[in-house]
Amino acid sequence: MSNPLLSSAELPPFQSITAKHVAPAIDKILADNRVALQELLAKSGSSHDFISAYESITDRLNKAWSPVSHLHSVADSEALREVYLPTQAKLSAYYTELGQNQTLYKKVKGLVDDASFDSLSQAEKKLLENSVRDFHLSGVDLDGDKKQRYGEIVQRLSELGTHFGNNVLDATQAWEKHISDASQLVGLPDSALAAARQAAEQKDQEGYLFNLEYPSFFPVITYCDNRAFRQEIYQAYITRASDLFVEGDKWDNQGIMNEILDLRLELANLLGFESYAHYSLATKMADKPEEVSAFLNELAERSVSVAREEFQSLSDFARDTYQVEELAPWDVAYYSEKLRQQEYDLSQEALRPYFPLNDVLAGLFEIVSRLYGIEVKPEEEKVEAWHPDVKVFGIYEGGQKIARFYLDLYARANKKGGAWMGECRVRRRLSDNSIQLPVAYMVCNFNGPVGDQPALLTHNEVTTLFHEFGHGLHHMLTQVDCAGVSGINGVPWDAVELPSQFLENWCWHPEAINLFAKHYQTGEALPQPMLEKLLAAKNFQSGMQMVRQLEFALFDFVLHSTWKQPGVSVQGVLDEVRQKVSVLPIADFNRFQCGFSHIFAGGYAAGYYSYKWAEVLSADAFSRFEEEGIFNTQTGADFKQYILEKGGSETPQVLFEAFRGRAPDVSALLRHSGLA
Ligand SMILES: [Zn+2]
Repeated sequence: MSNPLLSSAELPPFQSITAKHVAPAIDKILADNRVALQELLAKSGSSHDFISAYESITDRLNKAWSPVSHLHSVADSEALREVYLPTQAKLSAYYTELGQNQTLYKKVKGLVDDASFDSLSQAEKKLLENSVRDFHLSGVDLDGDKKQRYGEIVQRLSELGTHFGNNVLDATQAWEKHISDASQLVGLPDSALAAARQAAEQKDQEGYLFNLEYPSFFPVITYCDNRAFRQEIYQAYITRASDLFVEGDKWDNQGIMNEILDLRLELANLLGFESYAHYSLATKMADKPEEVSAFLNELAERSVSVAREEFQSLSDFARDTYQVEELAPWDVAYYSEKLRQQEYDLSQEALRPYFPLNDVLAGLFEIVSRLYGIEVKPEEEKVEAWHPDVKVFGIYEGGQKIARFYLDLYARANKKGGAWMGECRVRRRLSDNSIQLPVAYMVCNFNGPVGDQPALLTHNEVTTLFHEFGHGLHHMLTQVDCAGVSGINGVPWDAVELPSQFLENWCWHPEAINLFAKHYQTGEALPQPMLEKLLAAKNFQSGMQMVRQLEFALFDFVLHSTWKQPGVSVQGVLDEVRQKVSVLPIADFNRFQCGFSHIFAGGYAAGYYSYKWAEVLSADAFSRFEEEGIFNTQTGADFKQYILEKGGSETPQVLFEAFRGRAPDVSALLRHSGLA
């Protein structure tokens, strides 16, 4: 029987892949690659041929691993988890070995120093330069013992990250609340009630079932009049994977966090960096920790007093209107929603009927078609996916298919929460000169259709969909031929959110919204008064929103800048940062950090500031559309040409200036956030 992970098919044969295929396939490819690399290094040939051959080796491994790590995220199982960790460890060892391979390093360095370097394409040059940098960051210069220690650290960090994420997922799934009496649920919107009823039915229960997945948690904390239930679900949510988690401490992430931070610092020191923050910035657009701190502090100065005033108005409102003397953490979202309704007479829920998923998708595709001259169509041929709900689309330009993507939008068991874009196939030029087309996974966690009613989104969810599709376009519209710098590859983390946050802007313009906001039963457009309220409410509590993001960003950055200095602890840093920028009440049992997967299980360590950093770029890029028209085809074509197509083949500074005609400026972000 052949192994589906070794298949040379264009797309992964998802229906045939099982956990038992993982280890044999990866073992085989790693062994093949080691031999192929030796042969390649022994051969002479042009720089171009070397790069192409080297990328083929790497790409084969990526193409086999991508569906495995994707399934681990969207269709996890005991069996898969069992093979996932040990296989991931082998990969981590392999990449360490590559990063420290002296012969390979000398070869690449030789290509950079060679006279032929100037004749290479911009992408090839950037790829080689990045590689030299990354060899140093992988410890190629270290002596024997230190080299080995480096490998151990990287391997252990990779395990710890996976453990951290698993603990969050397991804790999230461990808690359930069954409520049989609807009178306990007054205030909850119909959509949330229906989803909770469906969740109960799926487990052959009467009544309503709630869990800690965001689509279940969010409506309760925002709308449920029952304060005791809000408190209960909040406490469970905010203590997930901690010592205080209501279902027990067996998923406690605190030991893991300390070990991760110790090892990150050791790693940074080993490579000659003062802190992990310094190490992190070696591959980012920001140069120095001081630059990041100054940036975050400037935003804090602009927003903390606004946030404080907003929280004061919220407190006054709750006291005057509802006789609530002091807002508890589980009251903030609830009374904020009431205040929003009073000020703007508009709830997220009231908008849902106007955002049926299929119309939103059609509108999104229409918008990108106008902007970039592309066409998005459902794939005609049957493509295997991992779940019946998944759909597959093609992107066409001038009648030619240039990319494909899987769309997996609904929350379900054994699927990680949140929304993201993942790479299935990366664009690159093959040795026969043909192009491997990029393929993306687009993943969200919306509530699916309930009975005859189609999936209906809130405006926030619409924005999430646009955001992820922005990442998707960055991956799929690239014209770069080297996988290592095509699409989002090689793009510094603090610039990678540019295309995603950028596309969100079209969720906030009547001209664009009117393309997709249609009542799911009547087909009626979003009534003008509702539209106006939606837009007016955009900056509701924008100061509070800003300081919340700054709290996360500062916590992450300070933690990774000061770890192991006398007196520094995870909780201590968080408390200090909150002292400075938070305006909200904090419960004693708050263990937010234990579920902060972005920095402990994802790639955002000493990099969470990237969201705001990139938002400066995205807001400023969009301001050109504000000046020239949001559907201006020339402006769209320029954005596509200078940003989306170029991927990581140039620095973000160069690309941004090419598009905008000048360096980025923070004022558009402040204006868009109502903080100017
Ligand atoms: Zn993003």
